Amino acid sequence: MTVHLFRSDDCEPEVLSDAYNLLCSFPGPMQFSIQPETSYFSDFTEPSPEDPFESIQKTNYCASIEEPAGFESRFFARYTLSWQQIFEHCGHLRQQHDIGDDEFVILLTSHNNNLNWFSAGNPQGPRDHFVHTEDWDYFVGSDRRFPIAYQIATGVLKKFVFHDYADLNASWHEEPRGCMLDFCKNKRQVSLKVRTGDICTDCLSLFKDRKAPSDLMEQVFSILDGIRSHMLFKSRFQISKKVPELHIEGRNKDLVFPELGRLKLHLNPLEKTIYLFFLNHEDGILMSHLPDYRKEIEHLYLSLSTADSIASIERRINDLVNPHSNSCSEKISRIKRKIQESLGEQLAQHFIISGANATPKRIAFDRSLLVSAP
Ligand SMILES: [Zn+2]
Repeated sequence: MTVHLFRSDDCEPEVLSDAYNLLCSFPGPMQFSIQPETSYFSDFTEPSPEDPFESIQKTNYCASIEEPAGFESRFFARYTLSWQQIFEHCGHLRQQHDIGDDEFVILLTSHNNNLNWFSAGNPQGPRDHFVHTEDWDYFVGSDRRFPIAYQIATGVLKKFVFHDYADLNASWHEEPRGCMLDFCKNKRQVSLKVRTGDICTDCLSLFKDRKAPSDLMEQVFSILDGIRSHMLFKSRFQISKKVPELHIEGRNKDLVFPELGRLKLHLNPLEKTIYLFFLNHEDGILMSHLPDYRKEIEHLYLSLSTADSIASIERRINDLVNPHSNSCSEKISRIKRKIQESLGEQLAQHFIISGANATPKRIAFDRSLLVSAP
């Protein structure tokens, strides 16, 4: 069964590819497919009076108690779509890509939705689903890949168990139990269910009674278990100090952390060239010595698939190794920011390229944890 993942143009491509990479690391009957095309919403009008989803209950966008700083301004700065608009859009995508009725269309969007849900399936029947990609840092305090993947996996499973929203409504837990059927009317309650990654005994017997496919349940539970342990890996780092392995994978030499839910560092080819170069030199390199390594750097750059012309490659590399240019330092700072955003401040210390002025720049990471995978 294919689950097609789409994004609307407002949602960054990395959000989609990160969720996809995470989900793909858990094999099972759901086969995830990522769609490169983006879709656009241009109409943000109020829902029509005949909005078919009017009766569905709203969730509160935030706790009634203290809201986190900056939350409100960020929330209200975004456009709001009605569910009707979102699901019409999913319908178009389904048609446009000739997706069969038994397959799923999942749309990731950063726009708010008028009923304010984190994610929802189409109440009118088709296997269409949307997931809101924003505010997870406020509500779960984690990397958003995890809650987004959670919503996708449990959304598909629920479609196999519940006939319609009336049926689903009868099973929601108004009081949170740390179960995938927690309604989370107050959006802050979502943290418990994502972090617990569990299903309560009532729901488990219901799913079994309704003959939810066991291989699908198994895949969803392994995704939830994985999410839980990945989320814990980072928070436990403060105590365990266990540094994860870093893998260099495939022709594009992707930099992947398998123990962090296959988290990938999104570096552009020049940034990746610099990073791989410093990984090769465990003892570090003085910036003023970079011209001596021009050949190695050029070779690394050429090994990454880029569409540059020879002249532009020459120019970029010359600039990079020129001790009087800021090119390399700027890229090192950008790489540092990306690693800190992905790993958090503490864990990032092991992976950033650092060193005081006039001393060699190096990556502290223990190279016995570096794996080159085909
Ligand atoms: Zn339950």
